[in-house]
Formats: sequence, structure tokens, C-alpha cells
Amino acid sequence: MDLNTKGKAEHTYDAIVVGSGISGGWAAKELCEKGLKTIVLERGHKLEHIVDYKTANSAPWELQWQNTPSRELIAQQEKQNRTGYTVRPASSYLFVDDQDHPYEEKQRFDWMRGYHTGGRSLMWGRQSYRLSPMDMESNAKEGISIPWPIKYADLAPWYDYVETFAGISGANDGLEQLPDGVFQPPMAMTPPELELKAGVEKKWKGRKVVNARVAHLTKPTAEQTALGRSSCMYRNLCIRGCPFGAYFSSQSATLKAAANTGNLTLRPHSIVHSVIYDDKAGKATGVRIIDEVTMETTEFYAKIIFLNASAVASTSILLNSKSDRFPNGMDESGSLGGYLMDHHLGVGANGYMETNLDKVQFGRRPGGFYIPRYRNFSEETGKAKYLRGFGYQGAGFRQGWSRGIEGFGADFKKELTSFGPWGISMGGFGECLPYENNRISLSPDKTDKWGLPLVVADASFKENEYAMREDMMNDAAEMLEAIGAKGINTFKQEPSIGMGIHEMGTARMGSSSKESVLNANNQVWGAENVFCTDGAAMTSAGCQNPSLTYMALTARAADFAISEMKKGNI
Ligand SMILES: Cc1cc2nc3c(=O)[nH]c(=O)nc-3n(C[C@H](O)[C@H](O)[C@H](O)COP(=O)(O)OP(=O)(O)OC[C@H]3O[C@@H](n4cnc5c(N)ncnc54)[C@H](O)[C@@H]3O)c2cc1C
Ligand code: SF4
Repeated sequence: MDLNTKGKAEHTYDAIVVGSGISGGWAAKELCEKGLKTIVLERGHKLEHIVDYKTANSAPWELQWQNTPSRELIAQQEKQNRTGYTVRPASSYLFVDDQDHPYEEKQRFDWMRGYHTGGRSLMWGRQSYRLSPMDMESNAKEGISIPWPIKYADLAPWYDYVETFAGISGANDGLEQLPDGVFQPPMAMTPPELELKAGVEKKWKGRKVVNARVAHLTKPTAEQTALGRSSCMYRNLCIRGCPFGAYFSSQSATLKAAANTGNLTLRPHSIVHSVIYDDKAGKATGVRIIDEVTMETTEFYAKIIFLNASAVASTSILLNSKSDRFPNGMDESGSLGGYLMDHHLGVGANGYMETNLDKVQFGRRPGGFYIPRYRNFSEETGKAKYLRGFGYQGAGFRQGWSRGIEGFGADFKKELTSFGPWGISMGGFGECLPYENNRISLSPDKTDKWGLPLVVADASFKENEYAMREDMMNDAAEMLEAIGAKGINTFKQEPSIGMGIHEMGTARMGSSSKESVLNANNQVWGAENVFCTDGAAMTSAGCQNPSLTYMALTARAADFAISEMKKGNI
């Protein structure tokens, strides 16, 4: 009896956070800093800041075939390789092994994941944009799906808060569709980007070309340097982990701040299976985990639980959490698992510019330019045949030896050591509407090696997204044409859900338990001490990269959770 009591006490914390990626890192920091003894349960292995970034300083010749994947590696990580750039000798160790981590695709679904401390905060592209008031109101205005239960004004102070701590380089551009924020100095635009900005803004009222906003330090604050972070060195090797802590990751920033409080316990190899719900008390008491290595099942207990395992994984945990009150998982609306969204991409144009040939860029800037949404936005930019819109990410860069020069002899050698023209390219990121039948569910009969039911994905882009893609391709070419770019080449690949690596919406926020899984403070309806603040919570997608919004939602919900705890409400 004594032993059991001790065992339970050892497994009891004030707060449990599931997952240590972008949103879990934030939950850990906020809860620890507010004095809660917090355990972060992370399914993957421990990956230490700096020392475990094993290829961060490797030269091309130190990597197999100059960083080209072998057939064996591709076979092992077939799904993770679908992007064409993630499974490389330098970065493949940060992506899951698809043989160990299978899922079912009723329709193609590219589920790109990293199971280790820090999750995808280590591999993300760091593009960081706020949603705008328009983005959070369009569901309500257009009668699509359900309205967000919160407005931009509710999130704005939390965007300020997370930007200040994370460090976002960018400029305040004064645009309604891309709200300004708390930024460190932007990275300079290259000559063709400046030409694009001047040409596009002159020709089209309402179209803007701005500096990419990226989570890189360009003028670190005292708080950031105290965490051991320093300015970006412009190496653009970020997908291998940053030894300077210059881009925002859980390791470089949030987990470190959480650990500094003395309140953090990080438990790797802890696969959360489900939330334990006490039907009598009407609240959750903890979570069940399976140890990744020993396969042992155990339980952890806490007053509050934050689910931050990423959209699909948190939704799987909720689906798996069955009790008398929730016989089909923690939801009474039927929306859990539905409304899966992602951004559709792989469409745009590129070309080259023969102006400014007396200039070259310095360093390898890990950013570029951004063209915020202009379709269906104002009178000037016109109404399209589809709902919502898209933004572009792009870059203009001086082409070097790798520009595919052919030939031999002295002339060939000379060309190899000279610069070519400026290349310029842009790719669209389009908003996807929330569709009820874009779903993930759990397999009734297939499990992985830890006995967890496999995720089954059944989702696709629809007419609205396909119609938008026409403009995404043609507008890109039209803008390059307008500035005199040569060799313009358009591209429009078949889009698939997951390829945007922005899964969202499968446990959405709403105003009633009849139509949503989470309320306006990210609490699970009926289990108000369980919070979910990753992409699952998104009621609509906008067209901006979403991780900054998960950070803001998480910091806001953690603040709310603490105040509710103090009031004795949870
Ligand atoms: C190559 C790439 C480029 C990207 N570029 C951008 C970009 O430019 N801008 C942007 O906004 N976003 C970008 N993203 C997406 C971004 O990485 C994700 O939106 C973000 O990491 C999601 O945060 P999260 O906390 O929800 O999940 P993650 O960061 O994925 O973390 C989830 C964590 O939970 C753990 N976990 C999962 N299941 C369980 C379980 N059952 N029990 C315990 N732990 C569990 C995982 O191991 C992981 O550590 C990119 C992603 C990739 C891979
Ligand atoms: S470019 Fe900057 S953020 Fe990226 S790895 Fe280099 S120093 Fe780090």
C-alpha cells in the first residue's frame, strides 16, 4: 500500500505537457515560469541543444555523396522523403523512420514528423506570420464551417508576447492583411527582390512585396543572450540544428527557459496513449503512457494537462481517450478528427534577371521576400472565383557554379568560377477551407509496434483550392514578367494534404460543445483541465505559416489555466 502511494506521488505533478515541439516548449516555459512543477512527456529520444546537432558543421565533402540520400535511406523514410529535401544525409536523422511509424492513407497524406526533444521546432522553415482580423472572421462572414470563438484582438497581445521572446526578424509594413508585430531588424532584400518590390507595387495597387518574417535573431535582446542565443550567422544550414541558437527552437529558447526555473522534468521515450478521465469528478486526472524502449505502461497525474503532440497526434490521443462520458473519445460534437486542413503549395514561377550584375549577395540568408494575400481582400485587388486567397514566399539570389553550366576546357573553368544572372523564384501558399469529410481517424484493427491504433487519413483538396491554384501560378509569372525577368518557368504540381507540413483543425475551437472540441480558451469541452493548443485547435487556416499562432494560443491558454487554477475552477 505504502509503495503504491509513493509510486503515485512520484508520478504526480502540477502540470503535464504532452510533446516538446514548438507548442509544447511554450506550454512548458509558461507553466514552469508560473511556478508549476511540470513534466513534459516526449515520445522521442533526448536530443540535446548543440551537442546533438551532429551535422551542423559538416562540410559538403564530409557528407555521403555531398548530401545525397542512398536508395536504402529513401526506402526507410519513403514518406518523409516526399518533400524531396528533408531526407538527406545531413538531416534525415531528424525525421521519423516510416517503417517504425506507419499510418494508413485512404487518400495520399504526407505526414512529416520528428520524434525527439524539440519536435519539428528543429527542422521548421521559421517563417512566422500573424493571422489577420480578416482571417479570423471569414468563416463567420462566409457561413463556412463555424466561426472562431475568439477575434484577432484576443490574440494580438499574445503575438506581441511570443514574438518578443522568440525573436522574429522582419519589418513593420503597415498592412491590414498581415498585422505588424514586435520585430528585430529584417534581413536586407537582394537587388532583384527590390526590383520586384518596386515593379509590383507600382503596377498593382494592393499587392505588396515585403521582407520575409523569420524566427531568427538579428539583434538579440538581453533575455535571448542570457539563454545563450546569438545573432544569425547567415549559413542557411538551419535544418541541421543551429549551434548559435540563432533560430527559435524549443531547445534554444523555451525548454531552456523552462529548465532554468527548476520546475521542469523532461521525460523522453514516453508515448502518451490517452488521457485518464474521472467520470465522477468530471475532469481528467492524468495520462497513460507506454515507454518507447521498455514497452512498460504507466500513468502520470496532474491538475492540468496540455496536449501539444502536434495536430494529428493530439487528435489521436483524444480519440483514444475513451470513458463512460466520452465513449468515442473526448468529444461530443462529432467534429474530432474532421476538418483537417493544410496549406496547398508547389505552385508558382521562377526566372532570372540580368540587371545588377555588378553586385553579389553576402552570406547565405535564411529568408527572402513575402507577398501577403491580395485576392478577395480589397476592392483594388478584385474578387476571385474562389473564396480566400494565398501568399507567396520567394527569394532572389545570384546564381553560382551550380547553375548547370555545360562545356569543357578553359572557358568552362572560367564560367564555373564566375557568377551567373540573378535567379528569382516564388511559390504560393494557399488557404484550404475546413471540410467536414477531410478526416483522420484511428484504425479499428491495425496497431503499431507499441500497440497504438494506426492513424488513418482520408482528406483531399477540393474545387476551391484547385481554382485558386490557377491564379497562384499565373500571377507569379505575371509579376516576374512585369519586372522583365527572363526564362520564366511556371510550375503547378498535384497538391497533397500534408505537403505544406501545416496540419490543422482536427480538434477545432468553437463556441459550443455541439460543434467543436475546444472552447475559446482551448479547454476540451467537458474536461476543462485538458488544453490542446497545437494546430488541432485551428478553426480556419489563413494562408500564413501557422506556428506563430500556435505559440500565441499556447501562451494565452497557459495564462488562463493558471488563473483558473488560482480561482479553484480547475
Ligand atoms: C521542413 C519543415 C518546414 C516547416 N516550415 C515552417 C515554417 O516556415 N513556418 C511555420 O509556421 N511552420 C513550419 N513548419 C511546421 C512546424 O514545424 C509545425 O507547425 C510545428 O512544429 C508544430 O508544432 P507542434 O508543437 O504542434 O508539433 P511538433 O513541433 O511537431 O512537436 C510535437 C512533439 O510531440 C511529440 N509527440 C507526438 N506524439 C506524441 C505522443 N503520443 N506522446 C508524447 N509525445 C508525442 C513529438 O515527438 C514531437 O516532439 C515546418 C515543418 C517542417 C518539417
Ligand atoms: S543561418 Fe543562422 S539560424 Fe540558420 S544555422 Fe546558420 S546561424 Fe543558425
